[in-house]
Amino acid sequence: MARLIFLGAPGAGKGTQAKVLAEFSHIPHISTGDILREAVAQKTPLGEKAQGFMDRGELVPDQLVIELMRERLSRPDAKLGWILDGFPRTVTQATFLDELLTEINQPYDQAVNLEVPDDVLVARLLGRGRKDDTEDVIRKRLQVYREQTAPLIDFYKRRHKLVSINGNVPPDEVTAELKKFV
Ligand code: ADP
Repeated sequence: MARLIFLGAPGAGKGTQAKVLAEFSHIPHISTGDILREAVAQKTPLGEKAQGFMDRGELVPDQLVIELMRERLSRPDAKLGWILDGFPRTVTQATFLDELLTEINQPYDQAVNLEVPDDVLVARLLGRGRKDDTEDVIRKRLQVYREQTAPLIDFYKRRHKLVSINGNVPPDEVTAELKKFV
């Protein structure tokens, strides 16, 4: 059983590693990006509200993502543990998450920060070719990351919950490091 929060810039490898580690430990991989992309594809009300923000590389408003996560974390499979990928992404979301996890008595173990230099991030994202991976949108997402998400590193450091991992090594080596935390 593990409850981990993955932090890292777009392109740091959060999604890839969260998926592998979740399968390895038989717990759900909860990715707000995947959930939102699915909602957009299905044209649900959430998807319709989120799409414009995502296409521009902006964050979807906190309130939408918070409601989504409240629902997701209350499902039975989340009782086994989880890996959060892409949430929280703002201090407001992190504060909400702390309160929610206290309320449902599911404290997280660690926040894991995957560290990758900026030039490597841009190269990886350009190579990935997702719809929101054009150069302008990538630049915007990195700017949003630095302004709104990077402060979470300090947020978790102050709570003595942060571990940092070098994400600029082959994926298997990153996975091996991460397995120490599950
Ligand atoms: P990446 O890790 O490459 O940044 P994600 O798949 O995590 O991509 O997210 C894609 C997009 O979905 C983000 O650019 C943002 O618009 C939206 N999104 C995902 N998670 C959140 C969140 N927690 N808060 C606000 N917006 C989010």
